[in-house]
Amino acid sequence: MEAALRAQGEERIAEQVDGLRITDVCSCGQPYCASFHTGPAPMKRWVMRGRQVELADGGPGTVTVDVIRGEIAYVEVLHLDDVRTALDRLGAR
Ligand SMILES: [Zn+2]
Repeated sequence: MEAALRAQGEERIAEQVDGLRITDVCSCGQPYCASFHTGPAPMKRWVMRGRQVELADGGPGTVTVDVIRGEIAYVEVLHLDDVRTALDRLGAR
């Protein structure tokens, strides 16, 4: 993910990937969804949806990073079983 962001010229966002902390997991309940929140901004501030950067890493699934005021606030992960499994293991769901 970090490499993909760098490849797309999103250096400032790529730098944050290492320090990301999952603060909440998407609760939409879709079986293909493994999205998670990483920022302090809670759901209620959803209106502040910022810039969206879709990762074009050529891999399976779709990863879209929501950047609010230059910070990663939400990572939308769709159709990526690996991530889903990782979240399950964290007991986050
Ligand atoms: Zn979801």
